[in-house]
Amino acid sequence: MTKLYLFLIPGLLLLNPNTLCSQQEDVVIQIDTLSRDVYMLTGQGGNIGIYDGESYVFMIDDQFDRISDKIKAAIRTISDKPIAFLFNTHMHGDHSGGNASFNTERTVLVSQVNARKRIDAQAQADLSKEKINAAFYKKMLPEVTFSDDITFYDGDETIMGVHVHNAHTDGDALIYFPFNNVIHMGDTYFAGNYPFIDLESGGSVDGYIAAIQQALMLINDDTIIIPGHGRPSDKAAMQVYLAMLQDLRSRVMEAINSGKSLEEVKSMESLTADYGQQYGGGFIGPERIRETFYTSLTTPVAP
Ligand SMILES: [Zn+2]
Repeated sequence: MTKLYLFLIPGLLLLNPNTLCSQQEDVVIQIDTLSRDVYMLTGQGGNIGIYDGESYVFMIDDQFDRISDKIKAAIRTISDKPIAFLFNTHMHGDHSGGNASFNTERTVLVSQVNARKRIDAQAQADLSKEKINAAFYKKMLPEVTFSDDITFYDGDETIMGVHVHNAHTDGDALIYFPFNNVIHMGDTYFAGNYPFIDLESGGSVDGYIAAIQQALMLINDDTIIIPGHGRPSDKAAMQVYLAMLQDLRSRVMEAINSGKSLEEVKSMESLTADYGQQYGGGFIGPERIRETFYTSLTTPVAP
């Protein structure tokens, strides 16, 4: 009887604890070993980076609260050292949704200052809607922030957090491990798919392109790249991705300069025709990427 009722009102399926439970059970955390000390964890949401260092574990992003226990169990198969730092690459919930459950006395949460502001605003909205309680709200918030860059030292490794301006959002950071030769791009790289550029959270096409260029200056041919979404990648593949973004930028710019409107650019399939097959099958389709480029390139970015 209950099930029939739920079928009649599909919106309620989301509230059914059994449904939530089965969604949770379906998630499998996959571990990729990328270097001596760095691993990539894939589950649901943005890719997690784990550095198992000399004296501590350094964690990058944490997906969703509902799968935190699974992620903790996966990390415990890599290391039994404490997670000293949890670094949020940016504010989105599929990268920072697990903050509260990883925020213990032994773990310090770190993010760029704008990412903290946006995580705070989002958590306050959830608090006012009673989706979370006050204790959970407090534990969501990064405890250390930085403006431009931040460095962590451990054993052979020097972990560099580098802010890139107005890229995927206005609070993105790249995290580079020079000794292990691995970089986590956050969502400034969607390997194999068109990027989601969150214009409403301070992202921009030009900042996104500049973020990838900045990363390419840091890394070398042997660097392993953790994208925000997608499989591990490398410099050559990210250079091809950058060229695609630059090409789309000049095509859309040309359309703008010839007086095309947003609606016209949205329907100009020719602008993306030769890239759709390779990059258009994900969350962002060809029309959406044309819209994002048009909107960003015709909107000045706040300094
Ligand atoms: Zn994101």
